[in-house]
Amino acid sequence: MATHAPEVPTTAPAPRHAPGPSEPSTQPTTTEPSLQDSPTKPSLQVRNAAQVLSQSSNAVFFGGAGVSTESGIPDFRSEAGLYHAEHTYGHSPEDLLSVTFAGENPELFFTYYKENLVHLSARPNPAHQALANWESNGPLSAVITQNIDGLHQAAGSRTVHELHGSIWRQYCTRCHERYTLEWTLNPTNCREPNHVVPQCPACGSMVRPDVTLYGEALPEGVMEASAQAIAAADTMIVGGTSLAVYPAAGLVDFFRGSTLILINTSPTPLDHRADIVITQPIGRAMEDIRSLLDE
Ligand SMILES: [Zn+2]
Repeated sequence: MATHAPEVPTTAPAPRHAPGPSEPSTQPTTTEPSLQDSPTKPSLQVRNAAQVLSQSSNAVFFGGAGVSTESGIPDFRSEAGLYHAEHTYGHSPEDLLSVTFAGENPELFFTYYKENLVHLSARPNPAHQALANWESNGPLSAVITQNIDGLHQAAGSRTVHELHGSIWRQYCTRCHERYTLEWTLNPTNCREPNHVVPQCPACGSMVRPDVTLYGEALPEGVMEASAQAIAAADTMIVGGTSLAVYPAAGLVDFFRGSTLILINTSPTPLDHRADIVITQPIGRAMEDIRSLLDE
């Protein structure tokens, strides 16, 4: 037992990417897709991810638009989404979904919103289902999502931090009365002449979706709760996001655990910080990891 304090405190957390492999020791850091792997055989990266998760006691998942696109929900921020918005509505998605625009041109805001962000027929895909399963039966403690479609809850996830709100909640901009999505989609609850802008019957003001518009702050407390969940985790899976925009990249900075797993169809700016990079669609990757864990 040391009687003198060492020069370097041994209790200080080691840098996550100190020289030498992280646990498990066989785990490579690579961004190369495994071209030799057959379509039915999980890649080395997928098998490593499954091994890490099998030993994890507190994992978190952070997901972006790619998680929803595999349920048939187009990404309005994509190139196709940008073209569609400008071609059909005469504005970019950032304009159409800004708090200023919603106030000045609510008819066009709600027309675009209802036609492009509300997808009632979308159903959870294997990525949503795997995460719900790992929360009920495994190591997952929380899902943090940039998506607003509620598909994680539809799959059975219970601890879901929605960074940008949800299409399933609406409130009156004046009296704050709450309304359901179905109610706002009913034209008889929307004001004349276009019957697209929901109008509060209690006070006559506009009823808006509880989603974060461009120019607005994120919902109170959700960033803090997300950061806390990430800071407490030993494993973080980031999926379906290019990690190019705030707050995605910033949230990863809160991670202090041992293994960062990135799953995306294309490279991200944080690939070099990840321990495992899986270059695959998120649904397929999560389904493969789940199959290995269930073996
Ligand atoms: Zn009201």
